[in-house]
Amino acid sequence: MARKVLVIGEVRDGELRNVSFEAVAAGKEVANGGEVVGVLLGENISDLANQLIHYGADRVVAVNHPDLAQYTTDAYQQAILQVLDVESPEALILGHTSIGKDVAPRVAMKLGAGLISDVISVEKDGDEIVFTRPIYSGKAFEKKKVNEGIIFATIRPNNIAPLEQDASKSGDVSSLTVDIKDLRTTIREVVRKATGGVDLSEAKVIVAGGRGVKSKEGFEPLQKLADVLGAAVGASRGACDADYCDYSLQIGQTGKVVTPDLYFAIGISGAIQHLAGMSNSKVIVAINKDPEAPIFEVADYGIVGDLFEVVPLLTEELKNV
Ligand code: FAD
Repeated sequence: MARKVLVIGEVRDGELRNVSFEAVAAGKEVANGGEVVGVLLGENISDLANQLIHYGADRVVAVNHPDLAQYTTDAYQQAILQVLDVESPEALILGHTSIGKDVAPRVAMKLGAGLISDVISVEKDGDEIVFTRPIYSGKAFEKKKVNEGIIFATIRPNNIAPLEQDASKSGDVSSLTVDIKDLRTTIREVVRKATGGVDLSEAKVIVAGGRGVKSKEGFEPLQKLADVLGAAVGASRGACDADYCDYSLQIGQTGKVVTPDLYFAIGISGAIQHLAGMSNSKVIVAINKDPEAPIFEVADYGIVGDLFEVVPLLTEELKNV
């Protein structure tokens, strides 16, 4: 059975986040030969539509509205519900990002639909679609199918490969006018922390430090390693609690969930709450002076040693690669 699938693209700072292209790839699988319709919400976002098409969307609906310039739950929820009314799809897919995690359950509630959240893979089983998602902080996985109603899922960034980009692909881009009203909150100003660098949740390589780095300055060798690798810097809650770094860097059960290709856990013991946020990384390298540290149980490569000796040596070596 072919399905019409709506995929909500995610725009940040005027650019589409990678998870949007991954969601299109998931949408293709769910569509089973049907139509994948990209949806863009924002202000002046129509220019991004072709990117979604180049990554596999058949057409794009652009919803331009001043109240969508910055994410608010009410405005996004209202806009998505109106697009659903017009398009009547069989499936809806969003990224499992801060935005997706916030708005998807609210949309599901309004639709009276189920929601399969934090999906890491999508497969066909005959005519049906099987979604896999981690449970128990990543210690087990469950497979889910939707038996009735709209298929609604959020997908975890960095898990489903985007389709190959085809810049010659074309598709219809239409505009939809939505009515947004009775907003309980509006964004008056956005003040950013000057973190810069690579976005943690979409990073392919992460260099994370724990309490073992011992101070704010202790993160400097890790930052140097990250610069050489083009990586994002992350942290354990131990490091954040000790005020060595900002909580926005925290990875784990109560922090960000990441799935990079390569994860360096440096001076991190490997508490279960930390593993919940990174154990699905494709390759894990642990650097710890304690050979019994639990992080070595999940690591693909382990270096037992003092991080203040190992990290600069590694950085110098990698500079020459
Ligand atoms: P530690 O456990 O103190 O480990 C430090 C490590 O550094 C040790 O293994 C030590 O051998 C090593 N080390 C020290 N010096 C050096 C050196 N010079 N060279 C090399 N290695 C060295 N934690 C998270 O990370 N993320 C979460 O989201 C999270 N959520 C939580 C939620 C709840 C409800 C609770 C109760 C806890 C949560 N925690 C979380 C905290 C978690 O239980 C751990 O306390 C925390 O992860 C420990 O951080 P750490 O590994 O950096 O510190």
